[in-house]
Amino acid sequence: MKRIHPPRLTPVAAIVASVVLACAAGVIHAHGGDPDQVYAVKIPYASQDQLSQLTGMLDHPYVDQKTRTVHAEVSDEELHAVEALGIGVQIDVEETARIKAFITSRSRDESSGALNRPSREQPSSVADGTHSCYRTVEQTYATFDELKAKYPDLVQLKTLGPAWMKTQIKEPTVVNNQYDNSWSSYTSLLAKFIPQSLLQRFNLALFPAQPHDVRAIVVGNFKKQEGKEVPRMVWTGGIHAREYAPQEVGTKFIEWLLDNYGKDPNATMMLDNNQYHYIIHNPDGRKLAEQDRSARQRKNTNYITALCTTGTNAQLSSGVDLNRNYPFGWATGGAGGSDGNVCGETFRGTGPASEPETQAVLNYVRGTWNQAQCKWEGGALPDGRPKSAEYCNPENRSTVTGELDWQTGASDEYGGGMFIDLHSNARAILWPWGVERTENGFNTHTPNNKGMAVIAQRLAYHNNYSSQQLLSYNTEGTTKDAFYGFLGAPSYTVEMGRSFYEDCGVFDRETYPENFNGFHYMSRALHRVYKLPFGPDTVDVKVEQTAAVPAGTKVNVSALVDDNRYRYSNAGQANILPPPYPVVYNIASAKVYIDQMPWDAGAEGKPLELGTSDQAKSDFPDATKRAFGQIDTTGLAPGRHMVYVQGTNSDGKPGAVSAAFLDVAEAKSSGGGGGAVGGLAAALAGLAAVALQRRRKQAASSSL
Ligand SMILES: [Zn+2]
Repeated sequence: MKRIHPPRLTPVAAIVASVVLACAAGVIHAHGGDPDQVYAVKIPYASQDQLSQLTGMLDHPYVDQKTRTVHAEVSDEELHAVEALGIGVQIDVEETARIKAFITSRSRDESSGALNRPSREQPSSVADGTHSCYRTVEQTYATFDELKAKYPDLVQLKTLGPAWMKTQIKEPTVVNNQYDNSWSSYTSLLAKFIPQSLLQRFNLALFPAQPHDVRAIVVGNFKKQEGKEVPRMVWTGGIHAREYAPQEVGTKFIEWLLDNYGKDPNATMMLDNNQYHYIIHNPDGRKLAEQDRSARQRKNTNYITALCTTGTNAQLSSGVDLNRNYPFGWATGGAGGSDGNVCGETFRGTGPASEPETQAVLNYVRGTWNQAQCKWEGGALPDGRPKSAEYCNPENRSTVTGELDWQTGASDEYGGGMFIDLHSNARAILWPWGVERTENGFNTHTPNNKGMAVIAQRLAYHNNYSSQQLLSYNTEGTTKDAFYGFLGAPSYTVEMGRSFYEDCGVFDRETYPENFNGFHYMSRALHRVYKLPFGPDTVDVKVEQTAAVPAGTKVNVSALVDDNRYRYSNAGQANILPPPYPVVYNIASAKVYIDQMPWDAGAEGKPLELGTSDQAKSDFPDATKRAFGQIDTTGLAPGRHMVYVQGTNSDGKPGAVSAAFLDVAEAKSSGGGGGAVGGLAAALAGLAAVALQRRRKQAASSSL
């Protein structure tokens, strides 16, 4: 939830809300009077105006457009404010009870000392098991270290810079013959800035001795990638501290990639061809959120320039919303895009990139400015946004008008990868720009809008979320607007799950699998992420062999090629144009490649045949096809080979690729056919011949 701010509301509502706020801070608590109570609510809305009003007050609500209902977690104070608008609120009793049980069991664990264990032995951020699936910051960083030790060739670790608390640390000094340690540890700093009445909510033994850095894990087959430009998937997790699931989703996907390299063909293809840069954005805030749910920590812990001294949680409402602190369009959008009040949940900071966490991530992803080349260099994502002489400066600002460049897009050939900021819990996929600006002709669309919309619609099919560009509220100074604005990289916010403090059952059953599917798809389209989503997805590549076959054997291969894998949603705000429908086409062709990606120089794919698929939808039967054929292994060297299949639709657009293994046995000493020269070409020629034969046989009944 955001706190309530008059500028977000209509004048009448603003008066009501400020009265309610005053009440909430005083005596009246119609719902039990517990200022720490959190309610799960469903709020039906009757009009777009009401929806805007609600989402102006609530942060990360999930808007169910079908049933016209807003789902959210609200405090007692916020519940009052919604009721004061005259909108009926239904309390989700079951979910509210779960939240209550969580808080109760936490304080029980706290008082019994169950939480009082060294962090490495602690199973989770909380001891009662409800949230045992979420690693603490220490455990996440320990996982990074363990993965590096286990997979030294596939993992690099990066320290991006200190988080805010670490920037405040000072060596103990001697004052009046006494050591002054009050600036030398995480807990001493907390004690310095937070009054005892609030500090006592925390078990200080669970905080690290020293505050953390912002860190990243980078994975990929670096040896294989040497000298090549490879696309990068750059994720940030945990930028909003209380959103439990995102940080864990990223860590688990990284683990899946590494644990399955050489075992799962797609994981192998992904690490051979892509790099993954996964960043833990807000470790300080997370340490508070791990322990204290009722403080609802979202921001970083800047207790100096973002110190809050008013309201229910006062100092615990301090901090900068790092996802409003990014410099591209910082504090320019107005209309609720960010907040200038230090106590506000979307406080933007005292200046663009004022926070050390923002600087660390920005420097890492964007790199350094090269004035001579007029571009950013050396960052995790390359600069794909051409800058004319007028905009040739690190701010991307016109030397004539002083305005930012909102109009220049990246080439569809951008091969640098993409950026995704992981959040809870609005079940939506959002892309730039986050707000209409007068300077941009009241337009939220970027020059790359069509590409970004189609990426989102494909991704939405895989993670079941809504591809809608914006939520019902405006945002500015966000990660995604910055990395698109500076670099032209396709940049997203993915809002996952159903709750900030998501139950592990929901996480395991739904949130992780949904996002796994989404990242799996994006990983297979990362080579040209603005283009490949315009083509059909290919999945389930199967090579029919139970054991390695002698070279010369013909092996069946099949795959599902499907252009119907997309999910369309309305835009999140009534006056924003919805994303264009991707036109779903019939499948035109599919090709198989051995040991070469379809886009590798000299790659030669051989056509597969197409047949009907039992997965085709009746209204679009030819958009989903089974592709099949035979691979002639004549001339293939003994060992493991990679088989890739890519489909193309009747609009001529090739799509995402999937892989399978093909194992060729050691040649028997007496056998012939060991010649290696021209082996691959022979195999592919053989394959084509088989396909041709089959096509002739089926010509009479073929629907091609
Ligand atoms: Zn968030």
